[in-house]
Amino acid sequence: MIKLATRVGKVPPSITLAIAAKAKAMKTQGIDVCSFSAGEPDFDTPQHIKDAAKLALDSGKTKYGAASGEPKLREAIAKKLRNDNNLNYGPENVIVSNGGKHSLFNLMLALIETGDEVIIPAPYWLSYPEMVKLAAGTPVIVETTAETEYKITPQQLREAITPNTKLFVLNSPSNPTGTVYTPDEIKALAEVIIDHDLLVVSDEIYEKILYDGAEHISIGALGEEIFKRTIISNGFAKSYSMTGWRVGYLAGPTELIKATSIIQSHSTSNVCTFAQYGAIAALEDSQDCVQEMLTAFTQRRRVMVDRIQAMSKLSCSTPMGAFYVFVDISQTGMKSLEFSDALLEAEKVAVIPGIAFGADDCIRLSYATDLGTIEKGMARLEKFVKV
Ligand code: PLP
Repeated sequence: MIKLATRVGKVPPSITLAIAAKAKAMKTQGIDVCSFSAGEPDFDTPQHIKDAAKLALDSGKTKYGAASGEPKLREAIAKKLRNDNNLNYGPENVIVSNGGKHSLFNLMLALIETGDEVIIPAPYWLSYPEMVKLAAGTPVIVETTAETEYKITPQQLREAITPNTKLFVLNSPSNPTGTVYTPDEIKALAEVIIDHDLLVVSDEIYEKILYDGAEHISIGALGEEIFKRTIISNGFAKSYSMTGWRVGYLAGPTELIKATSIIQSHSTSNVCTFAQYGAIAALEDSQDCVQEMLTAFTQRRRVMVDRIQAMSKLSCSTPMGAFYVFVDISQTGMKSLEFSDALLEAEKVAVIPGIAFGADDCIRLSYATDLGTIEKGMARLEKFVKV
């Protein structure tokens, strides 16, 4: 018998990955599954990005590189953060990691230890609390509701702070709710963070996927005091449909970036070298591809939201960002796992149970899939909630 480390027992496996895998397995058996479980765009990576990586591969970018990332990519990211987000970073403030997930994991390892509390608003991206636990810290979950559009209020944040609070996790646009904080709301949260001398990690991975004129503002851009306390996590997966490439990054104060570099140098070392050259092309070439994906998401979102809002037992607000609809199922009398399992069994529709995100009365549907699947899946969902 193998005696595993205690930390393993504290962390459940990812429910989203498990459901996506079950839906995929059903599909390979020939079952006609409508899957709304994926957390990734359904588009192929844009050709010019693939070409840049191919060129890098052919020209010998196949060796170990600097553990913190190719200097050219760190420079391109710093430039993007200055230009797009008004954040005054240089390459020394940036570390390239294996996706946003790895960036956040490195951050938790570099920052959090036993006794440290990390405030996470729920519904949350499911890996945040588990990463905190893996770093021996304590996640402090603050419940939000549909009434506040699933946004944490400055008062809620203030009330959750204790002498042990070290970090606040902000994710706007949000996975799973699609909520986007307004500039005023971000400003009000920044004031609380400064007052209590906390750090904030701003996960901006969906920053480019915005609707109806919603605006993304980076909390660190609001002034010097909050800039000093901000860490940015971002990546290429969602904006450029590069989920499998595994390229993300963290930006923040130099000493923190140095600490994450040390951790990375002893764990994964550099991100796949030629993949980083694809990421450079993503930042430096035309951004039309981002706009094209956004146009498709905008249309799909409208169809899905309209259909769900017309179902009497379900309710959802219109998401302002990302590519998810967060649906309240409380009127059905079912909890999220029971609902999701029964829906998959009965109607072959795959969704993610909200319990994965700390909201057991909800389910998450991704509309990063084609319109035909959305139409068909919505008809099946209507049938399911009527019976
Ligand atoms: N942050 C959020 C909110 C996400 O939804 C995801 C992916 O689903 C990530 C970070 C990590 O993305 P990746 O590791 O693919 O860059």
